[in-house]
Amino acid sequence: MSDTGSIGPLVSDEFVIPKASSRAFRVEQGQHLRVIAHEGKQVADLRFLNAADPAEQFSSWLSISLNRIAGTGGTRRLQTLHSALPRQNLMATVVSDDAGRHQFYGQCIAAFYDKMGQPGHANCAELFEECLAPHGIGMANLDDTSVFNVFMPVRYLDDELGTYEFLGPSCEPGDAIVFRAEMDLLVAATSCPEETIVNDFDPKGMMYQILDPPG
Ligand SMILES: [Zn+2]
Repeated sequence: MSDTGSIGPLVSDEFVIPKASSRAFRVEQGQHLRVIAHEGKQVADLRFLNAADPAEQFSSWLSISLNRIAGTGGTRRLQTLHSALPRQNLMATVVSDDAGRHQFYGQCIAAFYDKMGQPGHANCAELFEECLAPHGIGMANLDDTSVFNVFMPVRYLDDELGTYEFLGPSCEPGDAIVFRAEMDLLVAATSCPEETIVNDFDPKGMMYQILDPPG
């Protein structure tokens, strides 16, 4: 497991989101959010919203585009997370990343499991809905693509068609990614319930630490 190093040792909150469940929580500007694959190979789906104005949300395509232009990332890695048009504000910065390969497109939904012969299966879209409902935010208030899928690598198969396949999670037990909040954030997170290679055929929980800034 990586240490918190210059991030500072002050853990203001620590909790586990058990497998196939979700939670929404605040991370104040300047605090760090550490997402830890404490049980091993598992994907976490994260949404970032402005705590003061939840209509302002992380945008995948805008963040991918700005990182590509800045040379700091692309479709597998981001250094900076930005909100959607028209605001385009910096919401969070990745300050540490043990795995380095992620995905920023969508979430599992009921229709996927219907097609896989598992109707009624838990899915990240409904898990987001559950944890954000107390904040007055429904599925219709969320962009369906703009999800930061932590530790979820894909491999591109055909450059012309753009087809791709999912690989197993990019993390080893104890690996972490750390975000610095650049505004007061409402973060919604799921421990993805998919029993495929996406979660190494064994969905698990994920640990979260909220760290106060040093000094
Ligand atoms: Zn999922």
